[in-house]
Amino acid sequence: MRKLLIAANWKMYKTPAEAQSFLHTFVPLVKDVNQTEIVICPPAIDLATALHSVKGSEITVGAQNMHYAEEGAFTGEISASMLVALGVSHVILGHSERRQYFGETDDIVNRKLITALKHRLVPIVCVGEHEEQRERGETEQVLCQQISGAIARIDAARLHTMVIAYEPIWAIGTGKTATPSLAAEAHLIIRSELARMVGRPLADAMRIIYGGSVKPDNAPALLNQPEIDGALVGGASLDPHSFEAIVKAG
Ligand code: PEP
Repeated sequence: MRKLLIAANWKMYKTPAEAQSFLHTFVPLVKDVNQTEIVICPPAIDLATALHSVKGSEITVGAQNMHYAEEGAFTGEISASMLVALGVSHVILGHSERRQYFGETDDIVNRKLITALKHRLVPIVCVGEHEEQRERGETEQVLCQQISGAIARIDAARLHTMVIAYEPIWAIGTGKTATPSLAAEAHLIIRSELARMVGRPLADAMRIIYGGSVKPDNAPALLNQPEIDGALVGGASLDPHSFEAIVKAG
């Protein structure tokens, strides 16, 4: 029903030459994969190279961030229409590193989501709790707040392409992965909140992917959970063979 989506978040790694070299190796490795959608999200400076390198394959390219304004005096920022003009199809919004280091709030994520949808970019909206919030039993409250904040004031019918990435902050880049059942439990909470806000049929059609130290060895068990519709992969997406193994685990 819901097609698996495996996305690579390269964060601030790889020059254009390194991106080209990765894709030169990776593209042929996954040429026979057609049940899983593959998205590469490189740094903005690599987007054009990545788009050129995936030409002729099923792989698509996403940005890691964008501004919510159409255009303007926002030094260093990139707009949705610039991404679309280049051929980018996806955009990661509200990654925990953006929330933590760049002050991105639920309200900013909401504004970015409105703009991304307007430009028909597929948004990958990240949510997730801190370790202390989990320990205090606040996971459900945090996830529901982030989801309702992100999709506030948006007509439900416009949200059908949206992907949610559940990324518990304590699992990102730490080597600590959520167990498959713990991740699936969080995905159920997210889907229930989506159902409350947009209705059950739409919520059931939306993909909720997991992120947080996904590696070739833990990917099969995670992707085997019916509630987990794919993965957002940081560190392990930087090597073509390890990312290939994750893609093929699906
Ligand atoms: C991420 O950057 O979204 C991520 C999940 O990173 P890692 O796989 O390295 O934990």
